[in-house]
Amino acid sequence: MDFRFTEEQERFREEVRDFLEEELRKGSFQPREDAWTGAFSLEFSRKIAEKGWIGLTWPKEYGGQGRTYLDRLVFMEEVLKYGAPLAAHWMAERQMGPSIINYGTEEQKKYFLPRIIRAEVTFCAGMSEPGAGSDLASLQTRAVEDDNGFVINGQKVWTSRAHLSHYIYLVARTDPNVPKHKGISEFIVDLKLPGITINPLTDMSGGQHFNEVFFDNVRIPKTALIGVRNRGWYQIAAQLDYERSGLERIMSNYPLLSAVTAYAKETRKNGKPLSEDPLVREKLAKLTVEFEVGRLLIYRVAWMLTQGKLPNYQTALAKTYGSEFEQRLANCALDIFGLRGQLLAGSKWALYGGRPPRNYLFSRGYTIQGGTSEILRNVIAIRGLGLPTG
Ligand SMILES: Cc1cc2nc3c(=O)[nH]c(=O)nc-3n(C[C@H](O)[C@H](O)[C@H](O)COP(=O)(O)OP(=O)(O)OC[C@H]3O[C@@H](n4cnc5c(N)ncnc54)[C@H](O)[C@@H]3O)c2cc1C
Repeated sequence: MDFRFTEEQERFREEVRDFLEEELRKGSFQPREDAWTGAFSLEFSRKIAEKGWIGLTWPKEYGGQGRTYLDRLVFMEEVLKYGAPLAAHWMAERQMGPSIINYGTEEQKKYFLPRIIRAEVTFCAGMSEPGAGSDLASLQTRAVEDDNGFVINGQKVWTSRAHLSHYIYLVARTDPNVPKHKGISEFIVDLKLPGITINPLTDMSGGQHFNEVFFDNVRIPKTALIGVRNRGWYQIAAQLDYERSGLERIMSNYPLLSAVTAYAKETRKNGKPLSEDPLVREKLAKLTVEFEVGRLLIYRVAWMLTQGKLPNYQTALAKTYGSEFEQRLANCALDIFGLRGQLLAGSKWALYGGRPPRNYLFSRGYTIQGGTSEILRNVIAIRGLGLPTG
């Protein structure tokens, strides 16, 4: 692995940083944790789109930039550092675009890719169900084919941003009479269709970013199918690797790391800056070392993709390490902030607008979404270490 960026990549990093500094000055966003999933601003996404930074790695013929995964990594590192709002184009760019590029028809590519690149359409991911999470292949939502298309019945759950999206990427069972992995297909479904009901769910941090989505005899055209009927499971496997291996797995809480480091420097305890307390210093140094290790694990995946190699257990490794680091960071920040750090937004004494405790609660989900740590450890054991499946 080459640890250096090219001069062009360094110049690109500067360009992204200048843009973000300028937008911060103009007040177009406030840095926050989880901004990639929780801060939804189509206006901001369109500013990024105008710069040509959505679909950086996608083919030029559909409006992409044809750049490398490492270029994208440089871009992502800066936007995540600044805690800029990315949620409006997140799912479309990270998962839907690559899926359509790999498996879509020419019509789907021509229709959706330019619209995603211009941040005109938003997507959510409808995979999990009440009885199918880690074991996604057990899903029960049915898509029954007839002469005019498919009829969908069933329920999805934990669907992030469904209430804000134009389309749902839906995984449904198209053949119940074959082994469960072999009867699944993928669809793009317009969320305005009759028969779709979206109910908000409140997470334990008080946020309402995910939902239940119900499908009651929803009729969709045949053109909604992505790729090959009943091959959905095998198509998803590649998509989940995209989902797992981004820098967001280690940088969701980056603004909190910056905030707690600044706090330790600025706050005095017994006449001395808090950062001179050996326990606080050790905690911050440890977090910084851990962050650098996690960052390299994710760089490795991007580097492999750039070399045309398919990452395997490496994505599971990076996601497990990164999401567990983020939880340690949230925990450690609460220790360093002390009692005031536990106050939620609304209290005049809350630090950083009550972000630390909200984040502490929200980061519980990091080791669940995109594959739980237990499942990913199984992947590392089987695919990485070659241990028996048990
Ligand atoms: C913040 C957040 C956002 C999400 N957004 C979305 C979204 O947009 N779209 C979507 O489709 N889903 C989304 N999800 C759902 C997520 O993908 C599932 O929660 C996850 O896959 C786990 O499934 P489950 O909740 O059904 O838990 P289960 O699969 O029931 O697991 C329960 C527990 O059992 C353990 N376990 C299960 N099987 C095994 C095994 N074989 N070996 C060892 N341990 C095991 C798990 O690790 C876990 O601790 C989101 C979840 C969160 C927290």
